[in-house]
Amino acid sequence: MGLQEDEWNDIAISAAQRKRDARPADAEISGVGWPFDEFQSENSDIPLLSPIDVNLQALADVKLNPLVFDGHFTAEALTKIANTGETVEVRLINPELTPTLYGGPLHDEYIFDSMHFHWSSGSSPDCLGSVHKVGGQRFCMEVHMLHYRAIHGNKSEALKHQGGLCAVAFMLHLTNIENPFLARLARDLAKIEVPFSCTPLEHNAMLCCAEAAAPFGYVTYPGTLVGREDNLNVVWIVYPSPIGICCTNTAPFQKLRAGVEDMPSGLLTTHELADRPVLRAVP
Ligand SMILES: [Zn+2]
Repeated sequence: MGLQEDEWNDIAISAAQRKRDARPADAEISGVGWPFDEFQSENSDIPLLSPIDVNLQALADVKLNPLVFDGHFTAEALTKIANTGETVEVRLINPELTPTLYGGPLHDEYIFDSMHFHWSSGSSPDCLGSVHKVGGQRFCMEVHMLHYRAIHGNKSEALKHQGGLCAVAFMLHLTNIENPFLARLARDLAKIEVPFSCTPLEHNAMLCCAEAAAPFGYVTYPGTLVGREDNLNVVWIVYPSPIGICCTNTAPFQKLRAGVEDMPSGLLTTHELADRPVLRAVP
């Protein structure tokens, strides 16, 4: 679809606006409870980096409106996948169907940009590739869905603003039960083994995370994009309860060829919390 990036973003944002206008007024759900946008560490020497180790025992609860995934998990939202040389990136095929995220800690509507995976390049099936930890533990894989605040118009502009991006993280852990949506995606990975290749799918790859995307129960904190320190606070939404997958779901990821050396292993160090809030969303 030869759309330029700005044309694509314009279509996605007008589609989001039409969806918002179509919602009955009493369904308007805006974020309350936590002034993320104004959050700044009191000790500005310590950058508030991601990922972190989420300590479930130390969380404070915050009452929030439900977090709404609008359009992420519909069967008609077909996706395409790319081997970026560093990860598998999932994008929508039709910008009219771009999902939006709102409610919870968010003060505004956030537009879906892309989804990608973190895994370990180790050959053993039980290698742990998540970047966040929960209670000191890593998981097999981690999925990130990136969204930008609608008023910024695109992801690169949003990166320059406090709270301009919202990243949603899902943990995947090894069980003996296959995740049918991830299995379907894993089969398609054979088409993008070569770096910088991409292919359209006949399904919505985001569905592999649908079961975990609850309106409450996630952990939210201000951080950065993983591996980058040049961006202002990103609103993180991390689901600490993992989604079950099996080793046949992960093996095709490990076969992908990278742009440079190996696909980076997920084993990044977790960062100090400093004085930032890490909260669990409750009704
Ligand atoms: Zn990521």
